Amino acid sequence: MIEYENLAKANQKFFEEYEQDFKDTLQNGWFILGSKVERFERSFAEYCGAKFCIGVASGLDALMLSLHACHFQPGDEILVPSNTYIATILSIFQCQLTPVLVEPDIRTYNMDPSKLEAHITSRTRAIMLVHLYGKSCDMDPILAIAKRHNVRIIEDCAQAHGAMYKGNMVGGFGEYGAFSFYPTKNLGCLGDGGAILVQTPEKAETLRKLRNYGSNKKYYNDVVGFNSRLDEVQAGFLSIKLKHLDEINTHKRKLAQLYHEGLKSDFIKPAIHKDYYDVYHIFNVRHERRDELKEHLLRNEIKTDIHYPVPPHAQQAMQGLIKGGPFPISEKIHRTTLSLPISFFHTEQDIEQVIEIANKF
Ligand SMILES: *Cc1c(COP(=O)(O)O)cnc(C)c1O
Repeated sequence: MIEYENLAKANQKFFEEYEQDFKDTLQNGWFILGSKVERFERSFAEYCGAKFCIGVASGLDALMLSLHACHFQPGDEILVPSNTYIATILSIFQCQLTPVLVEPDIRTYNMDPSKLEAHITSRTRAIMLVHLYGKSCDMDPILAIAKRHNVRIIEDCAQAHGAMYKGNMVGGFGEYGAFSFYPTKNLGCLGDGGAILVQTPEKAETLRKLRNYGSNKKYYNDVVGFNSRLDEVQAGFLSIKLKHLDEINTHKRKLAQLYHEGLKSDFIKPAIHKDYYDVYHIFNVRHERRDELKEHLLRNEIKTDIHYPVPPHAQQAMQGLIKGGPFPISEKIHRTTLSLPISFFHTEQDIEQVIEIANKF
């Protein structure tokens, strides 16, 4: 059986370092907002080429606190891709803002710059873009449009730690770069975690308060804040994993290359282009008979996943809440996409086997 994901195996290489670090944290007896969080924040900011990093409790919170820090008014509109993971859209609703769904480019699954301007109104305040599956969005045209219309950029980087566009890492193109460290992500911890990258000390200060009850001095509260902190245990694990992130991304890129070379052309594979350094959080193919393909692979002992089976606008939770549509591109992606195994623990032989069996479909 080739599993789709196995987080014990994916983390096996780091077990000993994790154990040492956990012991160290236990002995310190300091579990919230201490030196391990500070150290991770410094190294992750440095890795991404950002000025500041603020650790928070999850990717959803990273998006939500970024929106909060912008001080938008209820009902202000935020452009967001129609095929993203639901969390991106939830963050907008949680801040009493209005998501405006924009259809993606069917070739990259990312925001289509040519469709953006048609959705910009006098109430549009920001573009919340998503670097989906580990590929950066097409940033030059998006940044130009944002500038022309004076709207802000918030990046959802939850699937794209280390992904690059024209040599620049995601998370630093916009005013806020929001990351998740959910265990399955390329840089995943052993629980929940997230972070926000910003480039000015003022924004960093605001976010540090927001994540900690609106306070940066114990028992003195300046703003109405949240409890959303990355903890010391997870920060310790993350500092260890960050040292291996390039190795993780390189491995996933190698496996992706095997898929690109080996899979027959019946499958629509991810786009590749020299301007993009993709980190393949997910390697998806599209096929009109996706469900049969999934069955075929499972019969041959290969597990796959679907990201995602139901588009956000069709979720029960969103009924009556999403304006606009229809969203035929998003629906087509959700109907035809299949995610193949591409975890850090998979070997080249595993992938060759997936390719051989998939090609018999
Ligand atoms: C995982 C993910 C999130 C949410 O991250 P959590 O840490 O689970 O809250 C947000 N956006 C995208 C695109 C994601 O993949």
